[in-house]
Order: sequence, then C-alpha cells, then structure tokens
Amino acid sequence: MANNPSGWAPKSPEVAEGHDVETVTGNRALMLEEPLLFEIGATDQCGVDIDPAGNAPTRLGGLERGSVDLPGLSEPQAVRHYTRLSRQNYGIDLGVFPLGSCTMKHNPRLNEKVARLPGFADVHPLQPVDTVQGALECIEKLGDWLIKLTGMHSVAMSPKAGAHGELCGLLCIRAALEARGDARKVVLVPESAHGTNPATAAFCGYRVENIPANDAGRVDLDALKARLGPDVAAVMITNPNTCGLFEPDMKAISDAVHTAGALVYCDGANFNAIVGRVRPGDLGIDAMHINLHKTFSTPHGGGGPGAGPVVLSEAVAPYAPLPYVRKSGDGYELVEEENAGDSDSFGRMVAFHGQMGMFTRALAYMLSHGADGLKQVAEDAVLNANYVLRRMEDLLDAPYAHSGPCMHEAIFSDRGFAEGLSTLDLAKGLIDEGFHPMTMYFPLVVHGAMLVEPTETESRDGLDQFITAFRHVAKRAREGDETLKQAPLYAPRRRLDETLAARQPVLAYKTPAPDGSSTGLGAKYGGG
Ligand SMILES: *Cc1c(COP(=O)(O)O)cnc(C)c1O
Repeated sequence: MANNPSGWAPKSPEVAEGHDVETVTGNRALMLEEPLLFEIGATDQCGVDIDPAGNAPTRLGGLERGSVDLPGLSEPQAVRHYTRLSRQNYGIDLGVFPLGSCTMKHNPRLNEKVARLPGFADVHPLQPVDTVQGALECIEKLGDWLIKLTGMHSVAMSPKAGAHGELCGLLCIRAALEARGDARKVVLVPESAHGTNPATAAFCGYRVENIPANDAGRVDLDALKARLGPDVAAVMITNPNTCGLFEPDMKAISDAVHTAGALVYCDGANFNAIVGRVRPGDLGIDAMHINLHKTFSTPHGGGGPGAGPVVLSEAVAPYAPLPYVRKSGDGYELVEEENAGDSDSFGRMVAFHGQMGMFTRALAYMLSHGADGLKQVAEDAVLNANYVLRRMEDLLDAPYAHSGPCMHEAIFSDRGFAEGLSTLDLAKGLIDEGFHPMTMYFPLVVHGAMLVEPTETESRDGLDQFITAFRHVAKRAREGDETLKQAPLYAPRRRLDETLAARQPVLAYKTPAPDGSSTGLGAKYGGG
C-alpha cells in the first residue's frame, strides 16, 4: 500500500477557555482528531488490488464516468477513519436521547439476535416463494399484530418510513375518492403538524390549508368544521399531537370529516404514547402510518432504514399497494401484478416487500413484550414525560401544562430566558453536559420550542441525571450567563454552519493550495 502522500498533518486545536494545554497532534488523550477522508486517502491509490483492465472496447457509447476524484484508502485506514468518527458521535447506546417526536428508545439486543438469524438475514427478495415461507409468515404475523393493536381493517406493509407511509395512505385515500368519481383538491393540516404531512399532501397534488390550534394546543374543532366542504379530500391529524397532547375530540373530528364526504389520515408517529391503550380504528381513522423504528424499537437515526406500515379502514383498503402477503392453503403467497386479478390497487411503492430486518425486529419486540407489556410501554413513556414536565416547569415555561398531564413528550418555550439567549444556546449547553439535546423549534406553534421525549426505556436514575443537567443549563439561560453562547466548549467541533452544509454540500473536497490560490470548496461535485 502506498504511503499517504497528501493527508495527515498536525493541527493546532481550538483551545477552550480555561484549558491551555495544546497537543501537537490535535488529539486529546483517547479522543482522536480526525481529518477528512479526502485528506487521508489519495486519488491515485486504491485499497484493493485489481488487475488493470484489458483493452476491451467500451460499449457505453461515450457515457462512461470520468474521474470522480474519490480518495483510495487501505482497509485499516478506512476502518480507523470511521471508528474514530463514531467516537465523536452520540447514540442511544451512550445515553438519554430526548429528541421529541423521534421516540429514541433502547433497541433490545434480543431483536438484533432474531434479525440476524440466517433464515431472515440472508433471504433474497427474488427467491422462490416456497423457500421463504417463514419470512412471509413473519410479515403476515406482524401485520396481524398491527391490525389488532390499531383496530383497523388491514395493513400495507411495504412503505419504508413514516413519510413514505403518509404517501401510501394518502394515495389510498385519493384512489378511494377518485373511484367514487369525487376527486377533491384540498387537504387540511393542523398548524402543529410535522413537516412531512403538508409535504406529502402537496406531493400528491393537493392544495394544503392550515387548521389553527386552540389555546389548549389542540385542533380547533369549530375552525375545522367551518372549513369542511365539497373541495376537501382529507384531513391529516397527528394523535397524540406534536405538542405531546391527546386530541380528545378525535371521534368528533372524524365524524365531521366523514359527514363532509372527506377521509381521515392520522399521523401515527406518536403511537408509542397510546399503544395497547387506544385503538385508532375506534376513532374513525381511515389510514395511519406506524413508525416501526419509533414505537416498535427498531434502530433509527443516522439514515438507517425505517419501516412505515400503514393500517387502513375498510373504505380505503381495496386501493392498497402491491405486493402483499396472503394466506394460501397452509402457506403464504405474494400477491403481485400477475396474480392480483382486477385489483383496485393504486400500484406499487417499492421494488420488493419492505424492510425485512425491521419486520423481524418489530415482531420480536411485540412477542417479547406481549399485549400487556406493550400497554405498559405506553404508560411508562407517558409517566416519564410527565416526570420531566413537572421537574422542569418551575424553571421553563410549559405552555400547555395548565391543560393537564402531557402524553409521551413534554414541551417548553423560551419565555423567561435572559435577553440574547435562545433555545439554541440551551441545546448547545446540554451537549457540553454530555447529553443529546431535545428537539428544538418544533412544533412551530410554540415560541423557541423544546420538545423532550424521554421514552419508557430511561430509568428514574437516568432521568434524574438528565434533569440535573437540563435544570442547570436552563438556569444559565434564565440568568443570562453569556458563556452559554460559546457552547459547546468541549465537543470535537463547536458551532457549525448547518444551513450552509445542507445547502452547499461539498462532496469532493480538494485540499486547499498552500498559497491560497484554491480553497477546498470548488471541487467538481461540491458547492462553493
Ligand atoms: C418521525 C415523524 C414522521 C416521519 O417519519 P419518518 O420515518 O422519519 O419518515 C412524521 N410525523 C411525525 C409526527 C414524526 O414524529
């Protein structure tokens, strides 16, 4: 392996105030400074030995890809690079991850063991159906649990995330309306909704209109009723909503929507708060996605796979996507275009059958908890969130605490912070204390919102440690401690320009010329 010609060079670390020991490497004991891949590897080296290609003529008609300047690394270089980066990261296996609306609960290791069984882990989506009967049974059983837990008519298993499930549910609703010759144009969405709700409706070709919230943080039923009419196709409601509150009028909302000839979509991302206690089917819902990666503990974050099955009412079930698993004799079959007959399905959302690894994990979770255990999940999640709410409300403004207990997440505003200090500063201060911050500035209906979702898998001790840190940083924000604006002081990186990073990702960095004649940014696939 060639030596690395371009890469690593010592750096002087940014030294936090009060810490004057510099290291020549930039490392701080076991916390290792790590350059970019582009600075370690070199474009003229390769981590694998491949014989040079012969002189076979190209058949790509000039479409072959030119150089993309990807750096080559040896295997140990690559392994160390990602291991070092992973040590600068934070995850649910390290500590409390109170990101509201995301349900970052512990991922039980039993689920991992089951998902890794070769009969599940190694199946191929194009295998003959008679060789994957166990996998199909697993999908069917999981679907059956979801139907029973939600009290709905049927389930579409293939959507791969919550937002994908929203798309599936809304496409079913659209197909149902079109089938009765009643294409409508508008979808109503409460102003506290997750951004994916209006995005999904717009993607399906609907015009999105907001429904206001009332003082108690719930959907304003009168405003909703006043807006219903023959142009409204559907209402998308999150229950429990993104303020962490149950919508007690849900049945009245569904009845009003149905009377007006429209259908009800429920964003079920917050199902963790009510699983085993409330069946959405009893509330008149027509379609609802379930994030297996939230409520049913399959790992998520960092772009890992999710799974967003959608439970459906009888009215919209016929329009569900292909393929699906169906019992046949004493086995299972896959219903695809060839054997669907003259189905009303709106079509296909994914190439294959959904996320097998998530299905096995979610089913293992359900079977290990049992029906009573799942009910306790909801109760403990709600208990933990209320514990945080009551332990913080003397220090932080809790805008809906007057309307009773919260569900699975506690919401606070930045009211009462000293001039010049913000929710962002508080969140960065929590990083210095070793905690991942809560969700910030969402939902939009609360000023400087902080949405804390501890989940049921935190112990009382774990919650107390988090609350001690949260209270300390909240006090600093109230008292106007200006050093909070410098936070995080101890993280491997300080405050990054996240907007610039998202808007202008640099995907092929070039080492800047020492004379300053080029920056790292102007590379072929980057911005800058
Ligand atoms: C997480 C979430 C979604 C989107 O789910 P993804 O799996 O991230 O696509 C939608 N709505 C709410 C309320 C959520 O919390």
